[in-house]
Amino acid sequence: MYSSLATRTRLIFGRGTFHGLPGLLTKPYPLATFGDVPAPNRQPEIKQTKLFINNEFVDSVSKKTFPTINPATEEVISEVAEGDKADVDNAVAAAREAFRLGSPWRRMDAAQRGYLMNKLADLIERDAQYIASLEALDNGKPYKIAYLADVALIVQCYRYYAGWADKNHGKTIPVGGDYFTYTRHEPVGVCGQIIPWNFPLLMQAWKLGPALTMGNTVVMKTAEQTPLSALYIAELAREAGYPPGVLNIVNGYGPTAGAALAQHMDVDKLAFTGSTEIGQLVGKMASESNLKRLTLELGGKSPNIVFADADLDHAVETSHFGLFFNMGQCCCAGSRIFVEEKIYDEFVERSVERAQRRVVGDPFDAGSEQGPQIDDEQLGKILALIDSGKAEGAKLCTGGTRMGDKGYYISPTVFADVKDEMRIAKEEIFGPVMQIMKFKNIDELIERAHNTIYGLAASVLTKDLDKALYISNSLRAGTVWVNCFNVFNAAAPFGGYKMSGNGRELGEYGLDNYTEVKTVTIKISEKNS
Ligand code: ADP
Repeated sequence: MYSSLATRTRLIFGRGTFHGLPGLLTKPYPLATFGDVPAPNRQPEIKQTKLFINNEFVDSVSKKTFPTINPATEEVISEVAEGDKADVDNAVAAAREAFRLGSPWRRMDAAQRGYLMNKLADLIERDAQYIASLEALDNGKPYKIAYLADVALIVQCYRYYAGWADKNHGKTIPVGGDYFTYTRHEPVGVCGQIIPWNFPLLMQAWKLGPALTMGNTVVMKTAEQTPLSALYIAELAREAGYPPGVLNIVNGYGPTAGAALAQHMDVDKLAFTGSTEIGQLVGKMASESNLKRLTLELGGKSPNIVFADADLDHAVETSHFGLFFNMGQCCCAGSRIFVEEKIYDEFVERSVERAQRRVVGDPFDAGSEQGPQIDDEQLGKILALIDSGKAEGAKLCTGGTRMGDKGYYISPTVFADVKDEMRIAKEEIFGPVMQIMKFKNIDELIERAHNTIYGLAASVLTKDLDKALYISNSLRAGTVWVNCFNVFNAAAPFGGYKMSGNGRELGEYGLDNYTEVKTVTIKISEKNS
């Protein structure tokens, strides 16, 4: 028997009122090796720092390197090979060769692709403690959350997509009287994938899972802030038995390696997760080069709507989790909290009290709920937005400052009396900064909730089923959570309306991004009639 994730997390943090991860996994996930969280490895050996091309770890053509920094200490963890256009060219050539008609990968039985992906998931489970430690070191997220959420979710994701390998097939279609028509679901080809730093392992799995299970080959550019865990997953993919060239990883910067991938004439498809600004840029590159297929998962400013009839304790905890999880570095963070007038003051008071209890500290400490922000650039950006909130007249109830002088820590911050036109109500902050606004009635609320360029996620907290359904049907958002937040499952699609992107990742819908549909029509000979 497996205890529920929430129960396990409460035990781990040993705090009666801390609910840890109320969402993230929709069910207790039966990972045999995940029963108890092992102690972290505070100084995990850095095994791979080069580029991964053709199943080899290689230096970059220029021999250049860049440092990856521990955001908790600001110290250099390691130098990492810095890829650029020449390396992207090499990686794309390897991926193209692996995709050649008649190659081992193209001739592989579809079910075998599923076995390989399950084998990769087995190896991740085997090394879960090491991988979670590496993620905590390079990204700054608490180790226990990396273990219980990130690593558990990538295992779930790879296993989910392993199951699809031999199940995504075409149809037979009646066409005229004398024709036999069928569709084939074929891989798109060489896929370029650019991922961000907030969930390095998870964003890698969301992209590799559907791409590889459908028989594509991949060149992935990791975020320059967090290259390490993806390289180790590449090592495990090689150990699992993926043929050379099927998966390639190029570390490097966006305007160099990232742009080279987006512009490449021999890349068939680009998948990007990151800011809306860069999404627009890579979208332009993708279309101006060779019109490569494009999916984008971009920013958000998600409304979280709290009605007066909601269970207040639950609403406060869920809203806290919806905003502060992962140091607020979530594209779907519930960063515009609309609270019904009647309970507004009490909601603010309790949210402030909860934020003040939030444990900020060393990612490797068992009690830490919050680690540092990713880097000094994000730290500066968040502090500037906090200053703008104060200057524009929002009420700073708690936090608002950098914590300590080593590591990029920010105190959990709550703003009340936030007005829709303030920058903190409009711009993605990507930090531990909560905005609470007041509403009076539903019609006004929906209009205000829609008053954004984004449409990634939303949530509603209420006991009234009619209100929950009315709001969730009305909102233009790719995901609506009712009485919960951040509930992720590999089977449930995720993606944005409006400028939050296009296409859906995860679930069966996620396969579409990595599948070309071919229609074959055969004339039935009349000779036999
Ligand atoms: P963030 O602001 O959260 O760092 P970005 O959108 O800047 O998000 O980065 C997401 C990913 O996009 C990273 O891998 C980054 O290196 C890459 N990137 C940044 N700029 C470019 C660019 N001009 N072309 C291609 N990729 C880019």
